[in-house]
Order: sequence, then C-alpha cells, then structure tokens
Amino acid sequence: MGKTYKIAVVNGDGIGAEIVPAGVSVLDAVATKYGFKLDKQEFPFGAGYFKEHGKFMSDDALETLKKFDAIFFGAVGLPEVDDTLPARDYTFRVRTSFEQYVNYRPVKLFPGVESPLRYKTEKDIDFVVVRENNEGEFVQSGKIMHGDKPGGMAMDTSIFTRFGIERIAHYSFKLARKRNSKVTNVTKSNTLINSLAYWDRVIAEVAEEYPDVEYSKMYIDNASASFVLRPEIFDVILTTNLFGDILSDLGGAIMGSLGLGGSGNINPEKDFPSMFEPIHGSAPDIAGQNIANPIGQIWSAAIMLDHLGETEAAKEIMAGIEATTAKGNLTKDLRGTASTSEVAESVVQFINATK
Ligand code: ATP
Ligand code: MG
Repeated sequence: MGKTYKIAVVNGDGIGAEIVPAGVSVLDAVATKYGFKLDKQEFPFGAGYFKEHGKFMSDDALETLKKFDAIFFGAVGLPEVDDTLPARDYTFRVRTSFEQYVNYRPVKLFPGVESPLRYKTEKDIDFVVVRENNEGEFVQSGKIMHGDKPGGMAMDTSIFTRFGIERIAHYSFKLARKRNSKVTNVTKSNTLINSLAYWDRVIAEVAEEYPDVEYSKMYIDNASASFVLRPEIFDVILTTNLFGDILSDLGGAIMGSLGLGGSGNINPEKDFPSMFEPIHGSAPDIAGQNIANPIGQIWSAAIMLDHLGETEAAKEIMAGIEATTAKGNLTKDLRGTASTSEVAESVVQFINATK
C-alpha cells in the first residue's frame, strides 16, 4: 500500500462549492489507481464563514491546518463582503504563515482550446510564472493619515529582503533546469530604482550559480506586450508579488479562459503545508449553475500531487485534462456546452479507462 496524505479541503465561496468537489473526484480516481490514500477533512472557511462569525477562519485554523500535508482550496470572496478582507484574512495569512513563498502558475494552451491569440498554437504557449508570494508590494504595511480631510495621505510600502529574493531565485533556476533552461526576470527597476534595482542585483548574483540556464531581464511593460505578441520566448518567468498577480491573469486569458489556470502556493522545503488553488476568484456571477470551468481546480490537484511526490498520478491528471479538451468537452467560458460535472467526469473516465 502506498502513502497516506492528509489533505485539508477548503471550498471557500461561490463556485468553490462546485469546482472543489470536481477536483476531489479526480484526486480520488488517481489515488485508487496509483495506490495512495487521501485522508481528507473539510473546513468551511471563507466569506460565508465571515458572515456568520465575523472572521474568515476560526482562531485555531492555522494551528489545525499546519498538521496537514497540503490544502486543496477553491476561492474566497462574496460581493457583499468588503473585497479587501479575503486577501488580508485568509489567503494572505495562509500564504505568509506557512511560508508559501513560491506562487507557481503555469500557462499552457490545451488541445482543442482556442487562444485569443489567433496565430499562436500549443507549442507557442507553454511557460510558468513564478511569483514571489511572501513579500514585495503585498507586505500590507503602510498607513492612511488624516483620512478624507484635505491634506490626507496614504501609502503602501514594498519590502524586498535578500533572503526572500535569493530563495525565490533559486527555486526559479532549479525549475528552469527541469524545463527549457531559461529564466526571464520581469522587473521595473528603471523606475523603481531602489527596491527593484536591489531585486535585480540579487537575482543576477544567483544567476551566476546556474551558468547552464539562460538568464535575461525584461521590464513589466514589455513583458505584458510580449505575452500577447510572442509568448513563445518564455520558459520560467521570475517576478514580484504584484507583477506576478497581474501577469498570471493575463496568462489565464491567453490560455483561453481564467477558468483553466491552476496554481500552487508552495513551501518547497515542506516545513509547512502548501496550498493549491485555481488562479481565478470565486466567480459569484456564475455560482450554483454547474457551468464553471473546473479545469483550473483539477490542474491544481495535479500540481499538488506533483509537490507531494506522486508525479505519475499528476501526469495522468494532465493527460486526462488534455484528452477532455481535445474532445471538445468544454464549458461555457470556452464556448462549449459541457457542465462542470461533465468535464470532471470526463477526466475521471480517462483515468479509469487507461492502464
Ligand atoms: P479575485 O479577486 O478573487 O481574484 P476576481 O474579482 O478577479 O476575483 P473572478 O472570480 O476571478 O474575479 O472572476 C472574473 C471573471 O471570470 C468572472 O466573470 C467569472 O465568471 C469568470 N470566471 C472565473 N473563474 C471561472 C471559471 N472557473 N469558469 C468560468 N468562468 C470563470
Ligand atoms: Mg482576480
């Protein structure tokens, strides 16, 4: 018998209640096939929980979640709950408390899916955005002074540490070695001349330890245009918290839908659990209709298994996704007619049907 992994399951809000169970059904199928066990426990955290309890998760949540091998998560947020809260109270706290300093966000065009970039094919769109996930622009340190009075002011501070930059850089160069040996540092050091010039300098130092990996630097404005015009130049994109957030939505868009993007908030050392979630939000506008695209969530399941060391099972999930899209089994966001559960069932059937 294989290993047992303890998995915390957090549906969150909106479509989370549909796509997370879809992802779990795929996880169960590969677990049976590859002979490992998933010891799952559900937690009701999110904006719904906030409406009842005045907080996004219980006081002992971080202590409890810490005992798990991984967190399989949907999304948090409801239109009636102040949208600055979920980031501060759930996602941000889990990401920072568990030192999930890597946000791994792959971008890839699946067979049978049309990219809005009409001249680009599957071979052109296949790269990873590695977003620094613990510091930078999102440290949430700053101040509002004098509120709405004349003379009021507000500021946010970005903080970059050598420690933080070095570890995300090492992760990116090691990842590039497993892919096509290319790292592009996306920055804006020509205008953020203190923080990002420091970021560039530390990354350039780390780059010297990986002479086999091609290293270059590109400004965020040029990188955004290049995502659209020549995505084929990218392999591993190493970037800051804010730029990575924006670029991964753009990545989702060139894949054909935000609903396709999977991700991992990863603590590579496994000192703490990592958290796996789609790149999109809780999409309350389409919740409860069984029409949300579950592929981003299912892809996140594959990223989770890969992190846990179940690489064959992870590959099988990816093959199942590709077989599903190739057949034209697509949800509404991709101009198809399949439901959330039909797409998930198609991936499960692929897993059950192959040896
Ligand atoms: P967040 O702040 O949590 O990132 P958001 O405000 O960026 O959330 P999303 O919830 O990501 O918004 O939704 C943006 C748009 O994408 C919505 O129109 C939504 O319906 C659509 N969308 C997001 N996820 C999916 C999905 N899985 N399937 C289909 N459409 C989706
Ligand atoms: Mg968003």
